[in-house]
Amino acid sequence: MTDILETGLTPLEEARHGFRRELLDAGLLIASASAGVYGRSATFEAVLTGLDRVLTELTAPLNATALRFPPVYPRADFELTDYIASFPDLSGVVSSFEGGDREHRELLAAREAGERWDGYLTPADVVLTNAICHPLYATLRGRMPAGGGVYDILGWGFRHEPSADPMRMQSFRMHEFVYVGEPDAAQEYRDTWLDKAVDALSGLGLPVTPVAANDPFFGRAGRMLVSEQLRDNLKVELTVPMYGDLHEGTAIASANCQRDHLTAAFGIRTAGGEVAHGACLAFGMERTVLALLRVHGLDVNDWPLDVRARLAL
Ligand code: AMP
Ligand code: ZN
Repeated sequence: MTDILETGLTPLEEARHGFRRELLDAGLLIASASAGVYGRSATFEAVLTGLDRVLTELTAPLNATALRFPPVYPRADFELTDYIASFPDLSGVVSSFEGGDREHRELLAAREAGERWDGYLTPADVVLTNAICHPLYATLRGRMPAGGGVYDILGWGFRHEPSADPMRMQSFRMHEFVYVGEPDAAQEYRDTWLDKAVDALSGLGLPVTPVAANDPFFGRAGRMLVSEQLRDNLKVELTVPMYGDLHEGTAIASANCQRDHLTAAFGIRTAGGEVAHGACLAFGMERTVLALLRVHGLDVNDWPLDVRARLAL
């Protein structure tokens, strides 16, 4: 082990850098100039596709309505989610140029002089999607059918959290299975599917542990939301130890009771007319692939036969 004074890195940081280096050397991830923004190799994508098949088979009994949204959604809907209040540091908004020739000349002159040109841009009417269930909620305004609805959403999420830990990316995919409907059914859905997710991920050889968790709400106001989440057990994460004893484990999936947080804002009601509740089961696709690579090794040809078969590798 290198001495911390020699490198300035803690043993945990060393371990994260080491795993990142192994992934890059193996060509599974391709680095870019931005921390946490990677290309993926064909092998990485093959594992991710296999994993997605496993999740789709697992959740087949839900008869979920599959919907796909692009990685941006309307700023007006983003406003309703409160994301900018709770997670300003993770947000990403899109800006573009709306000036005329004169402003364009100014932009070019600033750029030529090596100055910042961002000031010449104005916010566009879209933002980057942070949680891929958010665009769904915006489509459900009004009354849900009796018994509620279940939705299968797969897409790219953005979170501004640059890191040397390959498990913490800025742009990554989530596969979410979302229930919106009666409050009791939402709670039951979360609990039932949390257990099934544990079984499915364990079946791939992943040592997952369910842990009561909280979102990284920003600032002083956020501390209230953290204590509510923990007190009422609203968020459970499935964690996998990635760096031995150096770290308590990284979440590869989460099962969440959103209660009326999004449904009230978007005006979504049950068939009976009360405010509906939402619950979601969210799988981090890249994180789960990385956990498989960590547990079974970087060469997928050497993975246990049953795991290869399940993932159709
Ligand atoms: P959350 O909505 O925060 O519970 O996120 C859902 C899942 O997405 C998590 O359980 C992770 O597996 C994954 N995830 C969250 N943040 C990141 C990130 N920065 N990089 C990669 N995966 C992430
Ligand atoms: Zn969600």
